[in-house]
Amino acid sequence: MKTSLVTGGSGFIGSHLVESLLERGDRVVVVDDLSTGKAANLDAVRDHPQLEWVEGTIEDELLVNRLVDQADEVYHLAAAVGVALIAKQPIQTIERNVYPTQLILNRLGQRVKAGADVLCFLASTSEVYGKNPKPFWSEEDDLVFGSTTKARWSYGVSKAIDEFLALAFYREHRLKVVVGRFFNVVGPRQTGAYGMVLPRFVEAALAGKALTVHDDGHQERCFAHVNDVTGAVIDLVANDDCMGRVFNIGSDQPISILNLAKRVQARVNPSSAIEFQSYADAYDADFEDIRRRVPDLSRIHQAIGYRPTYDLDAIIDAVAAAYR
Ligand code: UDP
Repeated sequence: MKTSLVTGGSGFIGSHLVESLLERGDRVVVVDDLSTGKAANLDAVRDHPQLEWVEGTIEDELLVNRLVDQADEVYHLAAAVGVALIAKQPIQTIERNVYPTQLILNRLGQRVKAGADVLCFLASTSEVYGKNPKPFWSEEDDLVFGSTTKARWSYGVSKAIDEFLALAFYREHRLKVVVGRFFNVVGPRQTGAYGMVLPRFVEAALAGKALTVHDDGHQERCFAHVNDVTGAVIDLVANDDCMGRVFNIGSDQPISILNLAKRVQARVNPSSAIEFQSYADAYDADFEDIRRRVPDLSRIHQAIGYRPTYDLDAIIDAVAAAYR
C-alpha cells in the first residue's frame, strides 16, 4: 500500500486532498499544527483505518524526518494563509513558508541518494507572479514584486524561494518534484477568517449582512473549485513527465469582484446589500492589490488534459450549501 504524507492536511485544500487520496486506497499521514487548519475539516474521514493524524509543526526537524521517511509521496501544502493575515504577520509568513520546505526537501534528497523512489508535490501560489501586468500569466513569465516595505509581497517571494529550492533539488539531487501554483481556490470548508473573498461574501449574504467590496470592485480573479484543483494535483504527481516542472492550477474565467458580489447576492440572498471599502480600511495604508490575475492553463492542459469542470454558479451554490 502506498503511503502519502500531506502537510497541512487539516487545512481547506489539504483536507479535500486527503479524502481523495484515501478514496484512491492510499495510507495517508496528515501533519498539521492547526494554526489555520481545523481538526473538523477531516471529520468525514476521522475514523478511516488508513488515516493517521499527527498534530505537530513541520518546523520540527525530527518530526519531519520521521514522517518523510515513511512516505512514498509527499504533498507539501502547509503554508501561511490569506493576504489579510500575511500582511499582519510577515515574520511568521516567511518562517512558515521557507524553513519547513527546506527540511522536507533535504530529507527527501537524502532518501533519493539512498536509493528510495519518492515523489513530491509542492503547493505554490499565483502570488509568485506578484503584480505582473500581463493579461494571462504563464509559467515562464517574470515575477514582478512590489517593494519590501509592503509586507504582502513576502508571501509570493517566500513561495518563490520554495519553488527555486524544489527545482534545484530536482536538478541537483534528481528528486521527483512537481510545483503547482494555485489560483484563488474556493469551495466547502474554506473559512472567511483569513480574508478570502468568496466565503466572506457567502457568509455575509446568508446572514443578511452587506457584502463588502474593496476599492472600486473592478479587480479581477478566477475562482476554481477545490475538487478540480486536488484532482489536478493527483494527476500531476502520477505523471512522470511533469516532474521538475511548474504548473498553473485553477480556473481561467475571470470575474470582477463587484460582479462576484452581484452573483452571490443574486444566488444566495437578493435582499443583502453591497457596500464599498477602501484598501486602507480593509488592510492598511500601504496595501497594494493585484488588479487582474488570470492563469494561462495551456501547459497543464497539455500535460494532463486538465480543464476546470465547475462554473462559478455551481461553486457559489456549493459554498452556500456547505455553510447552510
Ligand atoms: N476582497 C473584497 N472583499 C472582501 C475580501 C476580499 O473585495 O471581503 C477583495 C480583495 O481586496 C481582492 C479580492 O477580493 O481584491 C480577492 O481577495 P482574496 O483575499 O480572496 O484573494 P487574493 O486574490 O487577494 O489572494
